[in-house]
Amino acid sequence: MSVVEPDSFGRSKCRGCKQNIAKGSLRFDEQLPIPFADGDMSLWLHLPCAAFRRPQVLLTTVNIAPLKDRQCHDHLTEISHIGTEVSRLKRIAETELSPNGRARCKSYKEPIPKDSWRIRQEHFGEGASTPSGNIHLGCVNLFFPTNETVLVRTQYFAPSLTEAQLPDINGTRQ
Ligand SMILES: [Zn+2]
Ligand SMILES: [Zn+2]
Repeated sequence: MSVVEPDSFGRSKCRGCKQNIAKGSLRFDEQLPIPFADGDMSLWLHLPCAAFRRPQVLLTTVNIAPLKDRQCHDHLTEISHIGTEVSRLKRIAETELSPNGRARCKSYKEPIPKDSWRIRQEHFGEGASTPSGNIHLGCVNLFFPTNETVLVRTQYFAPSLTEAQLPDINGTRQ
């Protein structure tokens, strides 16, 4: 059964943001059946990463065992509810500067120029995440119906993004 529990060793990596999970911090331990074999495997995620990327299963888990921190519980369930309603949102994996001009935007299939901001998408399936295309920031409003949430996610999953670059990103919105 999937659970929220404190991380005991500080050695697990989050499957959402690929960063380490700090020892003692709460993490989401999602149990998944191993593809084509018996038994279960664990996916570990930071709680906000779980709310963004695995909303359905996190909701089920905290509905059975609510978090002691009520504010944290409400915040995570709110994010998760949005993610279950608009399922495209949970594919947002990272915001990055396009390293080349080869990718095409999923919205209008136009090429994404090198060094322009794009949202990289990933799809979770069979216990692994697979790339699921890119959206250039100018198409965010067209591709995702709820823009405010997208911006929150975009910033959350953009570790390389500095404060100075934020107006740049906001400026590309149409
Ligand atoms: Zn994470
Ligand atoms: Zn586009």
